[in-house]
Amino acid sequence: MNKFYITTPIYYVNDKPHLGHAYTTIAADILARYYRKQIGDDNVFLLTGTDEHGVKIAQAAEKAGKLPQDFSDEVSAQFQATWQKLNISNNDFIRTTEFRHEEAVIEILLKLKDAKGPSGQPVLYQGEYEGLYCTGCEAYKTESDLVDGKCPDHPKQKLNHLKEANWFFRLSDFQTDLKKIIESGAFKVEPESRKNEVLSFIHDGLQDIAISRASVDWGIKVPFDQDQTIYVWVDALLNYLSALGIKDNSEKFQKFWPAEVQLLAKDILKFHAIILPALLMALDLPLPKVCFAHGFFTIDGQKMSKSIGNVIDPNELVDTYGSDAARYLIISQFPFGNDGDIKAEEFVKKYNADLANGLGNLVSRVLGMAEKYFSSSVPAGKYTADFDLKSFWQTYDKNFSDLKLYDNIQLIQQLVSWCDNYIDSEKPWELAKNNNDKLSQVLYNLIEIVRHLAYAISPYLPETSDQILKKLNIQSVEENYREIGLVKEGTKLDKGESLFMRK
Ligand SMILES: [Zn+2]
Repeated sequence: MNKFYITTPIYYVNDKPHLGHAYTTIAADILARYYRKQIGDDNVFLLTGTDEHGVKIAQAAEKAGKLPQDFSDEVSAQFQATWQKLNISNNDFIRTTEFRHEEAVIEILLKLKDAKGPSGQPVLYQGEYEGLYCTGCEAYKTESDLVDGKCPDHPKQKLNHLKEANWFFRLSDFQTDLKKIIESGAFKVEPESRKNEVLSFIHDGLQDIAISRASVDWGIKVPFDQDQTIYVWVDALLNYLSALGIKDNSEKFQKFWPAEVQLLAKDILKFHAIILPALLMALDLPLPKVCFAHGFFTIDGQKMSKSIGNVIDPNELVDTYGSDAARYLIISQFPFGNDGDIKAEEFVKKYNADLANGLGNLVSRVLGMAEKYFSSSVPAGKYTADFDLKSFWQTYDKNFSDLKLYDNIQLIQQLVSWCDNYIDSEKPWELAKNNNDKLSQVLYNLIEIVRHLAYAISPYLPETSDQILKKLNIQSVEENYREIGLVKEGTKLDKGESLFMRK
């Protein structure tokens, strides 16, 4: 891989940032940070942003007594502030109300107007839509989508009956091609369960979709039909292209498109695994490599909701635990891709177990012994521990290329436990009495492992990683950091303060 473009969805500004947004964004950030180490900062691009058009925003703004733009400005700023607090290293933040986005969307619509699908028919046509619309999803619903006559995701929302003339996108024309590229893996939908879900949806038959609205004002006007605005989802999906500068076919666009990975939650899978690829095929553009949908989570067994009052604000987690620990607590709950339950009262336990008593305590212990027995300098030795660091890094890379972010957390925790057991079995405090050579050797091994740990945690815990490297007197990232035995005899160490205070 020589470049890595990764995207999160752009988040709808009808809601403040919550744990679900943070989960996807932290995951994307971890991957971006990993690849920056692998292929260089200039070759990685992490995009996130906010989705600001549509009925739902107009209504939310009205309810707040604000203009939609002012309302969007405020909520978008909250997202940006939250990502800063969580130390998200996004390269850009796109807003769909920005001029650069709107002008790109208009140009893309004009291109679509002239484009023909696989059957040779124009991909856009005028038609009449009649049916039910869920404002919660900002999507039309067919009878088969409904459960007891209601949207399964928004059972409290009244479905609107809409009848209007719209522009349609001939999605049905792309059915065969979509099936082919998903089955062949030319366009990967992951995990496997999500791929099957998309394929069975395609198998049931794709219907053309209305891509404009006569009844919605808060949106980008259709360039060839000023009475209509562009359907918010089509508008939103194009952010991945507009942010790179597709309009001017910029260098950035040429370098980074298509995305290597698009991360999203499973509720918006159809938009990313069906509509976006079909639009791209219509535009004759290459498709993203991987569309990865992670699961939903519940909080203490219940769906996260304002009415239950179990919405967790990621900002509060940062205030309580700090940015690194908040990232860790959010991402370490359950395997990436699965559904899972977040137990809010477990946060403090997990913080203490994994970070304060785990990693933090190990670093203090090792540097404490170096201080006590070797006046805080690296003793003589070479790496002889029977922990195989080489295969550790191989598994680590494999996990990242499989998007197994959680598995690497396990891998890191296993190494921490291995060290704790090693200390307990070698008993350096006894070696100090009678076997100074062996004591040097044991300490050398531990310091070397701590150095590897500092690099391994860096995508997850970037500040902690820097702190450990400083303690080891490593001023900047070593180019060949994975080599074994780079720790040099005589290097001054600094135990300093604990990495994580117990809570
Ligand atoms: Zn809905």
